[in-house]
Amino acid sequence: MAKRDYYEVLGVTKSATADEIKQAYRRQALKFHPDKNPGDKSAEEKFKEATEAFQILTDPQKRQKYDQFGHQAFGPQGPQVDYSNLEDIFSEIFGGRGAGGTDSIFDIFFGQGARRGAGGRRRGGRDGADLQLEITLNMADVLEMQEKTLDISRLEPCDDCKGMGGSGERECSECGGRGQVAYRQGFFSFASTCPKCGGAGSSFKSSCQECRGAGVRRARRKIAMKIPAGVEDGMRLRLRDEGDAGSAGGDRGDLYVSVCVRPDPRFERHGTDLVQEITVSYIDAILGAEVELTDLSNEILSVKIPPATQHGAMLRLRGKGLPSIERSGRGDILVRVAVEIPKNVSGREKQLLHEIAEIRSSNKGFFGKVKDVLG
Ligand SMILES: [Zn+2]
Ligand SMILES: [Zn+2]
Repeated sequence: MAKRDYYEVLGVTKSATADEIKQAYRRQALKFHPDKNPGDKSAEEKFKEATEAFQILTDPQKRQKYDQFGHQAFGPQGPQVDYSNLEDIFSEIFGGRGAGGTDSIFDIFFGQGARRGAGGRRRGGRDGADLQLEITLNMADVLEMQEKTLDISRLEPCDDCKGMGGSGERECSECGGRGQVAYRQGFFSFASTCPKCGGAGSSFKSSCQECRGAGVRRARRKIAMKIPAGVEDGMRLRLRDEGDAGSAGGDRGDLYVSVCVRPDPRFERHGTDLVQEITVSYIDAILGAEVELTDLSNEILSVKIPPATQHGAMLRLRGKGLPSIERSGRGDILVRVAVEIPKNVSGREKQLLHEIAEIRSSNKGFFGKVKDVLG
């Protein structure tokens, strides 16, 4: 079957904005999500089709390629569709995962407590915690993608019990393995965590000696990560499944890395632009001059100060700023010119300045002269 046009799949025009595409995908996802259409193959196909279209059309580079070359842009296998970040996409387009709140469409899709992926129901287990870490870069590091090795302490599955916490697993007699027990009160039916197994759904004949039944042990790990060029101070990167290990079949947490970018005393950062102030003499400002400054990678740049440059004027050095995390190309260096008035002027200099003052006043127009006389 021929592949349908992405715009047609989402029912949007070729000029649709990212927002319109998001809205369109939201409608399709709500209609065709597998969890809402269990066992319906054609719904699942439609859901996948819409997800693929959404991922391509919301990625500016891929969209441009698609607009230019159509489906051929991605070869006979078609594009890579990443279903692993669906959770993020949903929480973004549906407005947060919410902890059982009214707006939590996320929960409709994935079931409460399910943390990631569109996978099936998991049995018991405790999820590992998310970990937080901070990394500091110099501003010059932002110019290029950085590869870092993090040395962290986190929970790893216990080798002895393979993360289970014990052996000789038995289904919990209280809850029949569901991890939850239901009870009635009046007209209502409630569910709560099974008091016997603590929600795990099972218990062990013998608890693991090595980890004392926890299923996890603390260990140091080296983790390689990449920090994209153009990263900004305060941005947070998520390394999926690099947090604490879960136990008894629970999921791993994620590792969040907050990036701090040390300010560079020479520059003020405005997104991808860098502003640097340079001071020039009043003579250079009047006559024009060439001055030098060093950019972030300590390359010497020469800046032309044009004649009659005013105090506070901004000069632009294109492409000498920082790269962008979203776009290709670099920002600019903006040079703010400060004109310095000398504090000490020698006798001879003063004399010359008086002469200049005379010349300038005789150059003034008629009204200028009148003003001088009256003033
Ligand atoms: Zn139980
Ligand atoms: Zn163990």
